Amino acid sequence: MKVTDAQIKLVNDRSNKLQAFCTVTVDDEFVIRDIKIIKGTNGYFVAMPSRKLMDRCPSCKGKNHLRALYCNRCGGSLPDGRVSHDSEGRPKLHADIAHPINQACRDTIQSAIIAAYETELENSRQPGYVAASDNEDDYDDDSYDDDVVEVEEPPVRDRISPPPDDESEGADAGSFASGIF
Ligand SMILES: [Zn+2]
Repeated sequence: MKVTDAQIKLVNDRSNKLQAFCTVTVDDEFVIRDIKIIKGTNGYFVAMPSRKLMDRCPSCKGKNHLRALYCNRCGGSLPDGRVSHDSEGRPKLHADIAHPINQACRDTIQSAIIAAYETELENSRQPGYVAASDNEDDYDDDSYDDDVVEVEEPPVRDRISPPPDDESEGADAGSFASGIF
């Protein structure tokens, strides 16, 4: 499997965890949208498109997010402890909509996406830069903010080292992506 295209849309305010959205094309014939590039505590990682897990209110059977304290349908209090945890103790709040099933595939996708992100970041510092995706397909940053705060960070093996600092305009600034495409 090859990532044949990776379109990056940088978010306007990158002081938060969410840095960019990405749309990838696989083998020139399958597109996956809504991948997020997130700055974690130990480097960047890529979050696959996901949906929030929900459960049902014991009283009215309305659906609520697992961390909701009150039912957004009947207003009743919801019980605690509805969030389960994985083997590494991280809360399970989201379910991936699409995701790689082995490490090699994850690495392939992540390195292509991060390389494209680096290139886009570099381009964004050039005068006259125009954001790649600026049409009716545009992402709505605001609707993602709450989700991203809760995105579970992956194990360390899935992290990517942070790129050189923004200020260090060095000779190797463009070499990060070379060799990938
Ligand atoms: Zn309810």
